[in-house]
Amino acid sequence: MPIIEVRDLAKQYPLPDNKSEKFFAVNGVSLQIEAGEIFGILGPNGAGKTTTLEMLEGLNDIDGGEAFIDEIDVSQNPYKVKEVIGVQLQANEYFDNVNLEELLGLFGALYNRDIDPKALLKKVQLEDKAKAKPANLSGGQKQRFSIACALVNEPKVLFLDEPTTGLDPQAKRNLWDLVRNLNKSGMTIVLTTHNMEEAEELCDRLAIMDKGKIIAEGTPQELILEHAPEPPEAPLHGDLEDVFLVLTGHGLRE
Ligand code: ADP
Repeated sequence: MPIIEVRDLAKQYPLPDNKSEKFFAVNGVSLQIEAGEIFGILGPNGAGKTTTLEMLEGLNDIDGGEAFIDEIDVSQNPYKVKEVIGVQLQANEYFDNVNLEELLGLFGALYNRDIDPKALLKKVQLEDKAKAKPANLSGGQKQRFSIACALVNEPKVLFLDEPTTGLDPQAKRNLWDLVRNLNKSGMTIVLTTHNMEEAEELCDRLAIMDKGKIIAEGTPQELILEHAPEPPEAPLHGDLEDVFLVLTGHGLRE
């Protein structure tokens, strides 16, 4: 059985210009994610990636369909699900006057876990920042710290929503290394991204999402071989941007 099984997931929101009518932000998404995968949901802004993740995390009500994580029904047992998942919050949501070590201790207490903050900071390469406040971290360090917070309950599945958006190339690569290391220790990682390079470099498998629907799924190579047009001047296939253009008729950043 896959560690994540999603069937026909749906979410409706009011239309921005006519609140009495609704539209499907997530429109019948089905996914099977195996334990140990790094699985990416790739799509442009507004595709429904965050909403999908929020429903899987139990942070947003499910309007239709069902989702199981580690055989737990997310809508029936939202609290039980939280024991097996790690959710990365944005760093600006943390208290300003508490240092990293203390914050991890607080998160551990919330989960009733006796954690070792120093070991967790080491895992995300922030051991020398134990006494620093979140506000004094760089963008990449903040992202790595938010991952440390998501690890306090030793999750089986880690959800990352656009983890490298806004990071410089070095910080991005550091974060990819961290994700790969966590994955090597057996953790399943589900991330959203609109960055093709990230999707191609990091993810074992991808679902390409547009307008609330999954429009293609496979390994990056499978998607490129299947969908990217072959450039006439070179026998090699294109990249994931081409895949996206062919499938949707528009680019990822539109
Ligand atoms: P993505 O993560 O792919 O950028 P989102 O899941 O954030 O996409 O958004 C999908 C669609 O749902 C967008 O059109 C967005 O404007 C809309 N949306 C997201 N959250 C809400 C909300 N709380 N209320 C109304 N509409 C929303």
